[in-house]
Amino acid sequence: MKLGIPRALSYYSYFPFLYGFFNELGIEIVLSDPTTKKTMTDGSNLVVPETCLPVKVYVGHILNLLDKGIDKIFVPSIQSIAPKIYNCSKIRGLPDLIRNVVKRDFTLIEATLDKSEKNQGLYEFLLEAVKPFGIEDMNVIKNASKNGWKVYNNFHVMMKSGLNYKKALKYAMENKVVILDNAKSYPVNIALIAHAYNLYDERVSMKIFDKLEKLDVNVFSADQLTTEQMAEGLNIMRSKLYWANEYEITGAAAHYINDRRIDGIITINAFGCGPDSLMLERISRYARKLNKPILHLSIDEQTGEAGFVTRLEAFVDMLYRKKRSTIINKINIKKSERFTDIHLKNVINLSE
Ligand code: SF4
Repeated sequence: MKLGIPRALSYYSYFPFLYGFFNELGIEIVLSDPTTKKTMTDGSNLVVPETCLPVKVYVGHILNLLDKGIDKIFVPSIQSIAPKIYNCSKIRGLPDLIRNVVKRDFTLIEATLDKSEKNQGLYEFLLEAVKPFGIEDMNVIKNASKNGWKVYNNFHVMMKSGLNYKKALKYAMENKVVILDNAKSYPVNIALIAHAYNLYDERVSMKIFDKLEKLDVNVFSADQLTTEQMAEGLNIMRSKLYWANEYEITGAAAHYINDRRIDGIITINAFGCGPDSLMLERISRYARKLNKPILHLSIDEQTGEAGFVTRLEAFVDMLYRKKRSTIINKINIKKSERFTDIHLKNVINLSE
């Protein structure tokens, strides 16, 4: 029993759960290879140019799985994750899109999760996913989902501790929990705000975590926050939850904009992304109001690494200068305080 899973879109959020779940049922997962230039080009060739980069990448990963000889591919339609909380139309209609653009012979395993219109729960979603393998016993499915949650929770505990994505996933899949206790510390702190598929796909994000570390920057993301902290962020901005990714974008950004330890915010969004254009506009206004430096990086398949690095370096350089001048100003204030003290003492002595 083999099931292909594209290493794109919801993979970056739900794969730890799916791994634990399918593994428990004896279904072997075959992942597509990490994203390359070819993945992007192959995917882009099959869809209209206006399609966002993450969907183009997704199509490229489906082709990669087919080239590996995989004939059953999991393409979920995650419509709504909670009542009245929706995903964007491209994620909702993913199985239809794939069926229409990839004209090759394979079984598309499409499971739907819709908590709003159809009130479908997780178990119905999982049942749809494993029915093609002849598994229909709900008790077996519920039991396997426990293993899914175990891997998922372990993964998130490690991500919260600051472990990087690759290592956290590797350890979670090995049923291990490794907590980072000797993290390096740098003078500047930046929060990266983006969908998980734009952050952790190293080709898409151009290894932004490594690049920032080389620039001596501590990097934070939504994965170090609790749901309560992100919900509080939404409250502060008086923003309502509508998009499924609102917590990790608006909530996390608002939290970090208010966090005095964070020196600046970097957002990464795909060119042409509707939900992000709405959320990022509000985040920008809020950052300006609180005087928090913010850099928006927009990506598509034409984005060149050189320009990307130049903008990152310029932003980090500006944060360093800002921090340095804040420190120097504090020193100046202390010096003048000292002068005033001495001055005052002299005045008192003279009057005596
Ligand atoms: S949320 Fe934006 S980037 Fe993600 S799939 Fe939808 S349009 Fe594309």
